[in-house]
Amino acid sequence: MSIASVAYPDALSLAQTPTPLQALDRLSAELNGPRIWVKRDDLTGSVLSGNKVRKLEFVLAEALRQGCDTLITCGGMQSNHCRATAVLAAQVGLKAHLLLRGEPDGSPDGNLLLGHLCDATISHYPPKVYRKTLEQLFEQWSEHYRAQGRKAFSIPTGASDGLGLWGYIKCCEELKGDFKQHQINPELIVCASGSGGTQAGLTAGCILHEMDSRVLGVAVCDDKHYFKQKVLEDVQDWKNRYGISLALDEGKIETDDQHVGPGYGLPSEEHLQTIKHLAKLEGLILDPVYTGKAFAALIDKIKSGELAGVSDVVFVHTGGIFGVFPQRDAFGF
Ligand SMILES: *Cc1c(COP(=O)(O)O)cnc(C)c1O
Repeated sequence: MSIASVAYPDALSLAQTPTPLQALDRLSAELNGPRIWVKRDDLTGSVLSGNKVRKLEFVLAEALRQGCDTLITCGGMQSNHCRATAVLAAQVGLKAHLLLRGEPDGSPDGNLLLGHLCDATISHYPPKVYRKTLEQLFEQWSEHYRAQGRKAFSIPTGASDGLGLWGYIKCCEELKGDFKQHQINPELIVCASGSGGTQAGLTAGCILHEMDSRVLGVAVCDDKHYFKQKVLEDVQDWKNRYGISLALDEGKIETDDQHVGPGYGLPSEEHLQTIKHLAKLEGLILDPVYTGKAFAALIDKIKSGELAGVSDVVFVHTGGIFGVFPQRDAFGF
């Protein structure tokens, strides 16, 4: 099945797209491997920066269609997704309520500060409570707003579900145009995987748009079994919601789970060095939670010879700049 027979649902126009596709010539020469390209999805908006905006274009259109006045979503304390949701809610005149894992140990910084600036309602929960009762928390707050005569729309972690999936399905169409323009046919597309929606969208999108590229998600938490399940679930949800038939061979769901480091939100020394190296060599700023880890994985694969014979690879820069600042001490300047 090709995209010609699938109609995209309504979306708001919120992201600055198309984003540039840029070649990293100095790094490619240094590694003496494939040509490395970066899809600059960190440029989807200065404060909106990152992959979540592409998903939220579809999610917010649906929330407005349903007549909702409030967005409830959740994530880690420095969640890029929660910050993007808070900023976009303010941009379209909705209220945002963020359910966050953990308490800040000082005054708000990074993404959390931006959420406050946009006047999001913010509830902090101890990690254990968050993990055990997240579903009930969504229900409880939805009911709270219902009782006030308001209507809340719940957005899952990272906006990764059958609705948010459209964001990276549409991005594949954009990439296909980029590849044509640069006359390349990249064998591999690499992205960081947190809640799996970007990987799921790219994987389904490449099949739908009949592209040859393999998609590799680099896990920043959990393991490859988790992401296989999560990608299958999101794609199934998308197929069910929109009555789409698409054959997704499980073998196409590829995840590297060897670069998580000490844990979610915790970079290793290798990750920090990768961020410094890319900043110095290419002026490309990666982040310590997602893209620094995924890029370290890509460099490892090139150095180990795993990508021998590959001519072009694309790294999707999914954003995360505001996560750099709360970890200033880790960089050791
Ligand atoms: C959320 C996020 C990701 C991971 O995307 P998922 O769709 O949640 O897997 C990658 N990079 C950045 C900067 C993010 O904020």
